[in-house]
Amino acid sequence: MQVPNIVKIKEIIQDTETVKTFIFEWKVKDEVPGHFMMMWNFQDEKPMSISLIDPIKGEIGISIKKVGKFTESIHLMDVGDELGLRGPYGRGFKIIGSRILAVGGGIGMAPLVALAEEASKRGIKLDVINAATTQDELLFLTRFKKSGVNLMPCTDDGSYGFCGFGTALAEKALENDSYDLLVCCGPEIMMKKLVEIVDKFKIPAQFSLERYMKCAVGLCGQCCVDDVGWRICVEGPVFWRDDLRLIKEFGKYKRDAAGVKHSLI
Ligand SMILES: Cc1cc2nc3c(=O)[nH]c(=O)nc-3n(C[C@H](O)[C@H](O)[C@H](O)COP(=O)(O)OP(=O)(O)OC[C@H]3O[C@@H](n4cnc5c(N)ncnc54)[C@H](O)[C@@H]3O)c2cc1C
Repeated sequence: MQVPNIVKIKEIIQDTETVKTFIFEWKVKDEVPGHFMMMWNFQDEKPMSISLIDPIKGEIGISIKKVGKFTESIHLMDVGDELGLRGPYGRGFKIIGSRILAVGGGIGMAPLVALAEEASKRGIKLDVINAATTQDELLFLTRFKKSGVNLMPCTDDGSYGFCGFGTALAEKALENDSYDLLVCCGPEIMMKKLVEIVDKFKIPAQFSLERYMKCAVGLCGQCCVDDVGWRICVEGPVFWRDDLRLIKEFGKYKRDAAGVKHSLI
């Protein structure tokens, strides 16, 4: 297994009250949107999506939502502080076609902002549904606008953009326009609803899944999903819609560090 690279935090961007993006010097090689890194605070290690890939400056960024012990410890760090990074891991998004709809919610926007910047470099037309509970939680508005994508923000409370869930806005977009591909990263409950919508419109779609991970290299079996047994860290985290038919636990439950099932319904 790869040993973590000890890296210094180069820059910290406070995105919202609960989300910060940490920038690291990194020799970018095969990193693609949807890949993740294992981040080590010298006590614990957690998977984190790559939210910025800049091969010219030689930088990657990781955006972290403060939700628990590990993420709080990272939020307390300053520029110049050190932590461990290994990766990239997993299978990222396959950016195909000339018109794509990206749908994300909350911290799920992290890989999608990297995808938006890559798509605009390739001249792909991208519509982005950026969903959050409220205006202050909307992520990466400036970066999305700068990348030139068509940004469609929405909030549960209607404080900014479309009032309602991202899935409702996605359904409207699919009714009005035709797309070659839909990509999604967000809460599983949102992705489950979106699967029903993409089936209705018969559009190819990729979804990024999240499961508790330990090794990230497919050895420990922690992130295997029922019934098919795929390892989210190796066969995923991004799956085509058809693959989700075999992941019977999708939208139903996930397992914690001890393997105990927790219902998502
Ligand atoms: C492939 C992959 C990519 C990921 N990418 C990112 C990323 O880019 N940014 C990021 O912040 N996290 C990401 N995560 C989640 C991350 O690995 C941690 O599990 C999460 O941040 C919780 O860390 P914690 O130890 O601080 O909280 P924990 O102590 O594990 O959890 C504290 C509380 O927060 C809840 N919680 C756990 N995870 C989340 C969450 N994501 N959102 C809301 N509540 C939660 C728990 O149910 C618990 O109640 C990713 C996970 C995977 C598998």
